[in-house]
Amino acid sequence: MKTLRLLLGDQLNHHHSWFQSIDPNITYILMEARSETDYVRHHIQKVAAFFAAMRTFAQQLERAGHQVIYLKLDDVANRGSILENLIHCSNGYDQIEYQLPDEWRLDQELQKLSQRTGLPVKVFDTEHFLSSRSDLDNFFKGKKTYLMESFYRHMRVKHNILMQGGAQPEGGQWNFDHDNRQTWKGQVAIPPLPDVSTDVSDIVQMIQAQGVTCIGTIDANRLMWPVTREQSLQLLEHFLQHLLPHFGSYQDAMHTADVFMFHSRLSFAMNVKLLHPLEVVKAAESAWRARPNEISLSQTEGFIRQIIGWREYMRGVYWAKMPAYAQLNFFGHERQLPSWFWTADTKMNCLHHAIKGSLENAYAHHIQRLMITGNFALLAGIHPDEVDQWYLGIYIDALEWVEITNTRGMSQFADGGIVGTKPYVSSANYIDKMSNYCGTCAYDKKAKLGDQACPFNSLYWHFYNRNRSLLEKNPRIGMMYRTWDKMEANQKTAILEQAEKHLERLEGL
Ligand code: FAD
Ligand code: SF4
Repeated sequence: MKTLRLLLGDQLNHHHSWFQSIDPNITYILMEARSETDYVRHHIQKVAAFFAAMRTFAQQLERAGHQVIYLKLDDVANRGSILENLIHCSNGYDQIEYQLPDEWRLDQELQKLSQRTGLPVKVFDTEHFLSSRSDLDNFFKGKKTYLMESFYRHMRVKHNILMQGGAQPEGGQWNFDHDNRQTWKGQVAIPPLPDVSTDVSDIVQMIQAQGVTCIGTIDANRLMWPVTREQSLQLLEHFLQHLLPHFGSYQDAMHTADVFMFHSRLSFAMNVKLLHPLEVVKAAESAWRARPNEISLSQTEGFIRQIIGWREYMRGVYWAKMPAYAQLNFFGHERQLPSWFWTADTKMNCLHHAIKGSLENAYAHHIQRLMITGNFALLAGIHPDEVDQWYLGIYIDALEWVEITNTRGMSQFADGGIVGTKPYVSSANYIDKMSNYCGTCAYDKKAKLGDQACPFNSLYWHFYNRNRSLLEKNPRIGMMYRTWDKMEANQKTAILEQAEKHLERLEGL
């Protein structure tokens, strides 16, 4: 039976059971499609990295003896969308097979395949995650909230990760978060990045010639993101050797001297499936077991929680709540993102650095995404659609299943508390504690009032005040309202008026 098997750009899993044997009746198809480059304005590094990874993957399949069709963006035969290309290319085949896509949009699209081609269609798992699409929903059946921590513990036991045997966690506790909140002032040197770069100039030329509109900048001769499994493993090894020993301690720290700090930069490799999350987690656990004097349990647990906890949890929430999730706007926020989100041209030093780094690298680490850009967008009342579009476009690892749950959920609390138990907002105090941004900022981190006052300080209270009816009953927030209520009436009025002034001139901040 002649079979056409679709591989999407984020399905580059070398160890998938599909590839264990070679069958001349099976042809794999990969394609660069305008429908994928254009559904949002992406960072140029993201488009180039996807295409480079797909091209290499296709070549490796071919070298291994598989039949492969690869449609480049500028091929005359390219019809522009995955569905149209499949309809066109499936002529002469008896059936089509594909792996479950991770995005709702593509899931819907591919469900039309049988009807549009008239061929039988079979669907397979990507074999890439540790839980199925519906595991999380089943786990929390009947519960009002999806508590990440319970799901994480369940995953630890189920996959026997950092366990003493049985149901006892290593070190006698599940969570070492309280050890992991240090600031970084250069006390531990950040090792130089390993060179996993690739020359993607031909791809960038093609993207430009095809008129794809992108954001951000690229050094096309040296794209720094891993686009092969070998490069991904090299980056993982670098992380285990040099960064894991300090990962947890500095995971919340931000500094103008370094964009990546002790973060792994493995999200792209994992999201396109060049690395399996279980192999990354097991490698971290083995490194800790082999070098316990160098790598503490708290560093290792902090890292592993991000992957088998947050990453799997976000995917589960996505499939449990889509498509309604993409419409949620708990606070009814309506403002547009200021244009400096695309230029970094703002006097607010924290935002300048977080956005500049994102434009230059298609990357910001978690706390920059959450407590700088996300925090500002939430305090300023930006529409979650605007925020989602920005995050979905700019980051190298942004795929909707993990972007929207983090952005609309964790960062903007637009889901009203499905992902997070309270909104992540802060004034300058937290930003100053975790970074060196405030020291050289044009604004005064201590002041709430006046043109030079840090905008975060008054916007913070404006946010709580305007959303009182929605937040007051949240047990994790009551304390904020007690502090606000204790302030003099004229001080409160002045703070709110100051915030209004900032909101009126967001473009000029
Ligand atoms: P590390 O800090 O080294 O962490 C290790 C790994 O843990 C990451 O590679 C990632 O796979 C996983 N991880 C960590 N935190 C999360 C999380 N909250 N959710 C899911 N996985 C996590 N991650 C994406 O992969 N794609 C996105 O589009 C994305 N958008 C985000 C938007 C916002 C507003 C926020 C607050 C977070 C977002 N994240 C996203 C999560 C996280 O910021 C990135 O996974 C991380 O910064 C990637 O860099 P790293 O590989 O160096 O991560
Ligand atoms: Fe950001 Fe305010 Fe600090 Fe400036 S003073 S860096 S705007 S938090």
